[in-house]
Amino acid sequence: MLNGPGKRIGYALMAVTVIALSTYFSWSASRRDGIADLGREAAYHLELSRATLFAPTDKFGFLPEVVANHATVLDALRHADDPASLARANQFLEQTNSTAKSAVIYLLDHAGLVIAASNWREPDSFVGQNYAFRPYFQDAIARRTGRFYGMGTTSMRPGYYLSHPVLAGNQVIGAAVVKIDMSDLDQGWGRSREEVAVEDGNGVIFLSSRPEWKYRPMQALTKEAGEQLRRTHQYDKVLMPALPMSLLEQLPGGEQIVEVRPGDMDGSALERFLLKSGTLPGSDWTIHVFAPMKQADMVARRVALLTAGALVLLALALLYLQQLLDRARERERSRKALEEAHQELEHKHRELQQLSEELHIASITDPLTGAYNRRFFFETIPKLVSAANRHDFPLSFIAIDVDHFKRINDMYGHPAGDKVLQMLTGICKDSLREADVFARFGGEEFMMALPNTHAEDARLVADRLRLLLMNRPVEIRGDALVISVSCGVSAYRAGEDDAGPALKRADDALYVAKSNGRNRVVVE
Ligand code: GH3
Ligand code: MG
Ligand code: MG
Repeated sequence: MLNGPGKRIGYALMAVTVIALSTYFSWSASRRDGIADLGREAAYHLELSRATLFAPTDKFGFLPEVVANHATVLDALRHADDPASLARANQFLEQTNSTAKSAVIYLLDHAGLVIAASNWREPDSFVGQNYAFRPYFQDAIARRTGRFYGMGTTSMRPGYYLSHPVLAGNQVIGAAVVKIDMSDLDQGWGRSREEVAVEDGNGVIFLSSRPEWKYRPMQALTKEAGEQLRRTHQYDKVLMPALPMSLLEQLPGGEQIVEVRPGDMDGSALERFLLKSGTLPGSDWTIHVFAPMKQADMVARRVALLTAGALVLLALALLYLQQLLDRARERERSRKALEEAHQELEHKHRELQQLSEELHIASITDPLTGAYNRRFFFETIPKLVSAANRHDFPLSFIAIDVDHFKRINDMYGHPAGDKVLQMLTGICKDSLREADVFARFGGEEFMMALPNTHAEDARLVADRLRLLLMNRPVEIRGDALVISVSCGVSAYRAGEDDAGPALKRADDALYVAKSNGRNRVVVE
């Protein structure tokens, strides 16, 4: 078992562990929820971006076919060596382009050479260029409609290319191409919380809600991709170093948590995003939606802080409660101890009281007979005398002495004599009034004080006692021993200082009773 302080340290460690674990779990649960929300938002945004990138297809889908079937176009391709025919085609394309609000409309012959274009007046006109290498041309030559996203090699602007074959009877003689400018598509993206970046087949971002991310490879370019870009001169003047981004966490749903460091990009702080990527069907482009983690991170941190704070408060409250309980228990303990001490004291006090009472009784009692002793008698008499004086009451005394007591001792032994003395005391006490005082004066001699009693009445009492004793033989060793006593009676006389003279008179009367033959009462 742990001792007190050990236990406390144990509890503290346990509390710290519980708080730390709960804080971590609440943080991670809240962060997980936040990430799930971000994932949903990013997926929605990805769909939205796809739709934006697809919109031109819906709007301009019909246009290449309309152009390809136009008589002017057919005429130009049939008579490519006729300047008047080409001029008519240029004008037609220019007018159509302006009406449809597309970027450029142009006409390629069967070898991929541009023979007419809506931008024929401009210095960087497509006329004379050869786009045989462009996939949209190859699609058209193969009698298919072409759809192609790409950076303009001449214009350096991202574009969406739609193509349609131009047929003369059963033969493909060229291709009509509509280019839609996509460089402004990303203008509206800056309004939402999410950032969007579109990466081309070479791994370079060419559309982004963040202008400073544009023309940066998503990752460092491979050697082949680098060489390819150099060959086609696609981003010759605008290519920037790779986006300073690192992967922090790969999530099960395919999303990633990435960190974009400021690096060499001006003014941008370290940022964390949930990155959701998706392809754009019909192209080799990839759309990336960067949902900022800031909010989710902050919410998770707040939830964790709140959890930790609440738990710390709870722990403190528990600690306080524990202390209150400790204090209450301590108080209860000392209260009990005090009560026990008090009870002990009371017990001792009672014992002492009893002892002192016993001592007092012993000090005023004759141990053999239980009658009062001589000392008590002399202590009490003055009170009786003063009471008699005060109220003018009579006060009498009877001196009692066993006749021939020595003989009993001699014949039956000392214990038999003791028994006789005890019997005599019992009889005397029984027949006395409460106010009377009966004391053993010594040996077999007793003295009795009878307040409020005249000498004559005292004589009657003494005689009755004498007769009572005579009629109660004491059983000793089979013999019935008849006991007789002699009594001397006297009375206190008003004017006497104390009981001394009266006691002397009783003693004298007793002497007379003995002299006159014993077993009698004499009044003095
Ligand atoms: P009398 O009739 O003249 O009074 O003769 P007595 O024998 O009674 O008187 P005495 O004074 O000659 O003898 C008293 C005897 O009482 C002497 C003594 O041994 C005895 N005695 C005194 N105290 C006690 C006592 O406490 N117990 C017993 N058993 N005997 C006692
Ligand atoms: Mg005697
Ligand atoms: Mg005697």
